[in-house]
Amino acid sequence: MSLLRSGMAVAAVAIMTLSACSSASPAPDSSSGTAAGPAEVVTTITPLGSIVGQIADCAGLSSSTLMAPGQDPHTFALSSAELTELAKAKLVVSNGLGLEEGLQKTLDAIKQDGTTVMEVAPLLDPMPLDGNTDNAPDPHVWLDAKRMAQAASLIGDELSKATGEAKARECGVSVQKSLNELDSEMRTTLDTIPKDRRVLITDHDAFGYFAKAYGFDVAGVAVPGGSTDAQPSSADIATLVDTIKKLGVSTVFSNTAVSQQLIDAVAAEAGSKVMVVELYVGTLGPQGSGADTYQTMMLTDAKRIADGLA
Ligand SMILES: [Zn+2]
Repeated sequence: MSLLRSGMAVAAVAIMTLSACSSASPAPDSSSGTAAGPAEVVTTITPLGSIVGQIADCAGLSSSTLMAPGQDPHTFALSSAELTELAKAKLVVSNGLGLEEGLQKTLDAIKQDGTTVMEVAPLLDPMPLDGNTDNAPDPHVWLDAKRMAQAASLIGDELSKATGEAKARECGVSVQKSLNELDSEMRTTLDTIPKDRRVLITDHDAFGYFAKAYGFDVAGVAVPGGSTDAQPSSADIATLVDTIKKLGVSTVFSNTAVSQQLIDAVAAEAGSKVMVVELYVGTLGPQGSGADTYQTMMLTDAKRIADGLA
């Protein structure tokens, strides 16, 4: 392990030299992945990374996000440079509840080595995954802006403790306020959808918290089991197609981070008038996409859902 670490330290110094100016870049942290130098706080997924980045920037702390925009949190794996970055952070913020499937062992290991790892989702009153027989908790908490407002305050506290920077606490509260405003703005947008059209058909089972918070019914998903990497049976697909026909659903939703092939096939089988609209599910959009912060990602999704179903 020590050999591994010293090798990585050399790599980290080289990276730091290349990106000395970008270690405190504004949220969302565009320096995700290998371009980042060691940051004081490192976050796993981009929606959460945007929120942590806003708190860190406000408090004058450096931050980075492991995943790049467009990467699917369920299937992300770590490079060795990213592992170095993680181990050097004063605080690592992860979503938890099994979301970061390819990172869990690493997170457990650095925690054991003394790095503070804050798992956010378990702190936000998690709900069971819809239809999951063993009642595993649903990790997709970030799709409820109110829950993330609460998260911002908790992250500010934790960041303050981990770095000794007292300002992080008030920065957490200020981002909390911004996310409560986001929640209201999303509600205004989504309010345009009539009650009988508030039906979501999505690529995988990610919208449980969203549905509960904003008054929707998740009528079906293309990929069963709560992750993005399972394969539906032909019976699963047939049931989903029947549901879409029976409910007269006009729009089904795909995911920017995974192939659209399956949901396209489902829509085509359900009828020529069923549209497919893409949503940002587990990841922000790239810079300039109009969904490159947590707030703009959620507003974009709300608008696309409202346009698709209204
Ligand atoms: Zn997911």
